Amino acid sequence: MSTDYGFCCLDCKDCYIVDDERNPDTVASLIMLADKLAELVVLDAALPQAVDLQVSAGYGRTNLCLAWFATHKGHKLEVIDEYGGFHPRCGKTYKVEGEKFTRYCKKKENHDGEACSDRSMFAWANHD
Ligand SMILES: [Zn+2]
Ligand SMILES: [Zn+2]
Repeated sequence: MSTDYGFCCLDCKDCYIVDDERNPDTVASLIMLADKLAELVVLDAALPQAVDLQVSAGYGRTNLCLAWFATHKGHKLEVIDEYGGFHPRCGKTYKVEGEKFTRYCKKKENHDGEACSDRSMFAWANHD
């Protein structure tokens, strides 16, 4: 089973998973360049219509949605997987009273003193 990775804006609680991008390190590298990617939107708008500007990533070479980077320019971005877990993730196990199964923490590795949680970032985004 493979996992797709993408970006999560902590400021806006908005996540963007890149189809078939299975390397979290690639996503981390793109986050370092997020400001530059946002600038490409300006360049794209200035280019003649006959010219396409695309940045593709992942196994299937998916075109990145550059507008997403423009929307979240200067915001705090993190690597997230398609199941709503941060990368690298805490991953500690914990149990909730009355439940038989074990839960796995989806928060970021070495997160602050807050309790572990398996709430997906997407659920978090929807419920905050
Ligand atoms: Zn944002
Ligand atoms: Zn945790």
